[in-house]
Amino acid sequence: METIDLRAIPLTDAFARRIDYLRISVTDKCNLRCIYCMPEQGLPWIERAQLLRFEEIERLVRIFAGLGVSKIRLSGGEPLVRRDLDRLVAMIHAVKGIEEIALSTNGILLEEQLPSLMAAGLTRVNISLDTLREDRFEALARRPGLDRVLSGIDAAVRAGAEPVKINCVAMRGKNDDEIGAFARFAREREVAVRFIELMPVRENLGIAADAYIGAEEILECISGAESLRPITGPPGNGPARYFGFASGRGSIGVISPLSHDYCERCNRVRLTADGRLRLCLFGENHLDLRKALRDGESDERLCERLTAAMMVKPERHHLRVGEASSRMRAFSEIGG
Ligand code: SAM
Ligand code: SF4
Repeated sequence: METIDLRAIPLTDAFARRIDYLRISVTDKCNLRCIYCMPEQGLPWIERAQLLRFEEIERLVRIFAGLGVSKIRLSGGEPLVRRDLDRLVAMIHAVKGIEEIALSTNGILLEEQLPSLMAAGLTRVNISLDTLREDRFEALARRPGLDRVLSGIDAAVRAGAEPVKINCVAMRGKNDDEIGAFARFAREREVAVRFIELMPVRENLGIAADAYIGAEEILECISGAESLRPITGPPGNGPARYFGFASGRGSIGVISPLSHDYCERCNRVRLTADGRLRLCLFGENHLDLRKALRDGESDERLCERLTAAMMVKPERHHLRVGEASSRMRAFSEIGG
């Protein structure tokens, strides 16, 4: 009987979605403690030996690329706290078939690392920022550093890592009075500011239900002061809906995992820092790729496993305002 070479068939799930985007968490650690993401004391961090090594990540990227994945996003935790990240970027950049390498960062360490990351092949940067006020930054991130994040944003714009996207989690009673200021920031700095709906996870149940603001309310709030029109938005494969200003410079976006389902367009899977392939942002189903790698499985066998795993990627998540997800840890990685 003739055998089929799975490596020639692009990854597709049971709902005919092409999977061409892999998000890689390179660490679970972070230098901030955003109130909606991590508890103040941190998390029981993954032991060093359990983290995927760069060579292991590169091997998986090569296998994914052979299956049609062309876009990689490095995330975390905070990816820039993983030492020598530029070396990983260079290794991924050398993989045939990889067209984009993006980074999601909180921006604290960005200014100093950006030159070497760009030289290694980084193509895009998303920076998280939930407030433009220093006192509030410390309250929301439980660490100081607004000036460093702003310098990181400026450095990314200067370096031409375009389109620079800012991710802002909108929260009632916490930063909703800054939505207009963020829209102006987008227009003046000529960046895309994307508002993300707060997702309930175990770490933020104390605030999630009251603080949640839906995307339509965010848009209404901005429309009072700015005339917005729907636009295609900057490239970058995100689930956001974008709107432009009359001046044509800068844009805003909304990412609405709860109020506006985007699952039908989902093109991504996620690799955790300890090597589990997660098929959906929420839910516990995953494939232990670290074990497979360290058990010495062949590329062909890994390829079969990935192809088979796509068949159990869920059609959609079932997250609701006020309910915790079944996720164990808060690595939502959505806005990236
Ligand atoms: N540390 C990096 C950063 O903050 O950009 C990368 C990882 S972080 C988990 C990725 C994105 O997820 C950030 O934009 C963050 O604001 C967002 N995020 C984290 N927890 C969230 C939640 N509960 N609801 C909505 N967005 C969340
Ligand atoms: Fe760290 Fe990003 Fe989570 Fe904030 S959202 S605690 S910066 S991982």
